[in-house]
Amino acid sequence: MTRLLHADDPADIEAVAAVLRDGGIAALPTETVYGLAGNALDADVVGAIYAAKGRPSDNPLIVHVASVDDLPRVVRSVPDQARALAAAFWPGPLTIVLPRRDVIPDRVTAGRDSVAVRVPAHEAFRAVLRAAGVPLAAPSANRAGSPSPTTAQHVLHDLDGRIPAVLDGGPCEVGVESTVVDLTRTPPRLLRPGGVSLEQLRAVLGDVQVDPAVVGEMAADQAPGAPGMKYRHYAPAAPVVVVDGDAAQAAAYVRAQGLDHAAVLCFDEEASAFAGTGEVVTYGSADDPEALARGIFDALRTLDRPGVESIFARCPTRDDGLYRAVRNRLLKAAAFRVVSAS
Ligand code: AMP
Ligand code: MG
Repeated sequence: MTRLLHADDPADIEAVAAVLRDGGIAALPTETVYGLAGNALDADVVGAIYAAKGRPSDNPLIVHVASVDDLPRVVRSVPDQARALAAAFWPGPLTIVLPRRDVIPDRVTAGRDSVAVRVPAHEAFRAVLRAAGVPLAAPSANRAGSPSPTTAQHVLHDLDGRIPAVLDGGPCEVGVESTVVDLTRTPPRLLRPGGVSLEQLRAVLGDVQVDPAVVGEMAADQAPGAPGMKYRHYAPAAPVVVVDGDAAQAAAYVRAQGLDHAAVLCFDEEASAFAGTGEVVTYGSADDPEALARGIFDALRTLDRPGVESIFARCPTRDDGLYRAVRNRLLKAAAFRVVSAS
């Protein structure tokens, strides 16, 4: 029921753009993760995106535009800081929160006076944007709560039969969602770490605060800076626990639990240390943050199946650069549960 189209075929690009022009929705590759796109100016289309994902309506969507010149179509003002960020990082994995214009439906922003905007780098997404001729709202193309999709197969696993089409552009280059920075606050605030690092943001903006939800769980009654941050995210069905300490200590901890249906998510070089503790899935070398970012969601999806009843995960100890984004996704999948094995 869901058509699988190909990003390297111009006829397929046009077919997807036609779906979007006609008020439909479709999954598209981006350099971060696959997005579920639709006309951001049409409240009914936006409603269809939420429905297909099963996304809570208070979790706002990111609006994608073709270039910084399109910003005034969706935001009321373009501050110098936004221009500086755009010059440094667009097109690319950075989303900027700015005051919204009235053309953006309440549903996109969950009623907020701000809108999150990004210029994506993926050539196929950019081609579809140009051919569709409207800003595209595009949250990650997964069922709400699941690990984000980094391949067309991940999208089909979650949404086959629920959306008209997915454009296959191969595996995503970055592998984690965009960095989100809120410029409606002073100083600017990092709401979600991603492919553009906190250090890179500070080099352009000076002071940038990190939202508390990036590093710890929100209290249920606390108003989150980014509404989506209060939900359990990126999580396989089985509970995930991060195990600190060195690999030998962590493996001893897992063995001591004596669980029959446990699985381990660890770095490539640790696989042998965990042999015999249960199913072992690796997601890249601890020294290669790019590989970890590309691998994290696929690994979490591999572990999201019946027969896996608990997951022990190894999390990077560094949190500079892209490590911060990898840590954030893994800690969110673990609902910030960390045990020390040392
Ligand atoms: P996703 O589309 O699944 O990548 O998630 C988009 C995320 O962007 C949301 O969960 C929010 O954290 C953030 N976001 C979108 N719009 C806004 C906004 N107006 N203000 C603050 N954060 C936003
Ligand atoms: Mg998402």
